[in-house]
Formats: sequence, structure tokens, C-alpha cells
Amino acid sequence: MQKQELEDYKKAGEISIKVKEFARELIKPDMLLLEIAQKIEAKIYELGGKPAFPVNLSIDDIAAHYHPKADDETKATGLLKIDLGIHVNGFIADTAFSLDLTKDNQHKELIQASQEALNNALALLPKNPSLSEIGKTIQESIEAKGFSPIINLSGHSLDQNEVHAGITIPNYENNNENELEEGTYAIEPFATSGEGRIYEGEGGNIFVLQNPKNPRSPIAREILEYIMDEKETLPFSSREIEEKFGKMARLGLRELEQSGTIHHFPKLIEKAHKPVSQAEHTFIKTPNNEIIITTKG
Ligand code: MN
Ligand code: MN
Repeated sequence: MQKQELEDYKKAGEISIKVKEFARELIKPDMLLLEIAQKIEAKIYELGGKPAFPVNLSIDDIAAHYHPKADDETKATGLLKIDLGIHVNGFIADTAFSLDLTKDNQHKELIQASQEALNNALALLPKNPSLSEIGKTIQESIEAKGFSPIINLSGHSLDQNEVHAGITIPNYENNNENELEEGTYAIEPFATSGEGRIYEGEGGNIFVLQNPKNPRSPIAREILEYIMDEKETLPFSSREIEEKFGKMARLGLRELEQSGTIHHFPKLIEKAHKPVSQAEHTFIKTPNNEIIITTKG
């Protein structure tokens, strides 16, 4: 890894730590997700980063991939996962935490389960565990608290302008005996009182460029040019596009989605519709086997 690349990863991580502190102060029960998303995004820019993807604000049985629409009226309630991506020159910090917004803290244990699983997995890294051993630690940590890991969600490698760069880090013992090589990775345990699997629901207002074709309408063309210049391979939200291009953006986005130019990520929903907690950190494994957790304060 080049020195500049390492510096950029560290800077993205430092910004993520500040944005998480900001988010913990900001978020109160019944606040609009829309306001949370706008303020977090503004904070990322203010601190000199850019969003690597729209902040995921997923409630209860939605495990991931929800971002409010431009006119969204969803309020922050229940078990809220805040999953942030920040990049500096394309080098990404991907990190998440869960908040219990219920009056009686009914999700405390479930939140602890994913957090402890993450801590235990990170503590194992200096011993060069196999992918399966990392997954086993996550699974056992969550099961010890009486919950289940979500087995069809996983951690992943990261690369410049790539949130998911090919390698997956399982949240259960999967018999993959490969060890992690030098590189950047995210570990992200999800814990649930449900089945431990997610299915794909309707779109969650997060998109990515898929297969650029020549758009028919001027608004679709404008949006596509913006995405190709500003986002390239990184996901974006319909909200930010609509804030930039006005209400006409809806027609443009629909055209781009229907032509397969952009992909609309589905919401990931727990099969038994039980609440889900998440914790996530990004770390770098250096050539001399040093582990640098970039998103931990
Ligand atoms: Mn994430
Ligand atoms: Mn991730």
C-alpha cells in the first residue's frame, strides 16, 4: 500500500469517527430520517470527506439499504442502524452502529450482541485467523447472547472507489480456511432475534451506476452525466439527485432505472420480521501483519 493511500484511509476513518459522534448527539426518537440523512451528509462534506454511499438508516427488521426519499416522512424509532461510508480520494471508511430508540431500551442486549461479536472478531485478527474462524467467533458471540447472526450478510474487502471488492468475511462458521491477505476490509456482524436470514424487499432509494446507455430525456441525460462525473462506481441516493435537479429528477431516475442504466438496491429485510442490530469497523492489514482499525476512536 502506498503511503498516500494509507493516509487517505486514515483520514476517511478519522472523519467517520467524528461523524459517528455527531450522529449520536444528533439523533433523537421521532426525528425525521430525512433530517438525519441531510445533516450527516453535510457533516461529512464539512469535515473534508465525501459520502462513499448514502448513509443507511434502517429500522427494526430492515437490516440495511434504506435511505429516506426527498419527501420521506419516516421517523427514527425502534432499533436504528446507522451505516456510514466516507471516502477520501476513493479510499473508504465503512462503519456502522445501532441505536435503541425505544423508551424501555428493549434492544439493549441485541445491540450488545453485534457489538461484542465485532470486538471479538477484531481481537482475533492479530492471530491470522481463517475466514471461517472469524465467522465462528462472530456466530458464537451472538449465539452466546441468545440471538442469531444473519448468515446471508457479510463483511467484505474494500478498494479504491469499491465498497465491495470481492472477498467476503462471513458472519458464521463457513469452512473457508483462507486467511486475509494484505488489504482493507470491513467486518460487520448483524444480530437478530429472528431467523438469521434476510430477503430482498422493495427499493430502498439507494442506486448505483450499472450499464450506461444513451438516455432519451434531457433530465435523464443530465443526471447520468452527474453520476458519471461525481459518483462513478459509488452508490448514490434519489434524495441527493432530487435535491440537485428538482422534482423532474424522479422521471429521469425512473427512466435510468427502467433502461438498466442504474440499479436500485432492494431493502434487506429479516425473514421473520424481527429486529436486527449491526456493528461495523474498517481495518487495514499491512504487509507486516499489523492491524489498523481506521474507524475506531
Ligand atoms: Mn457499512
Ligand atoms: Mn460494509
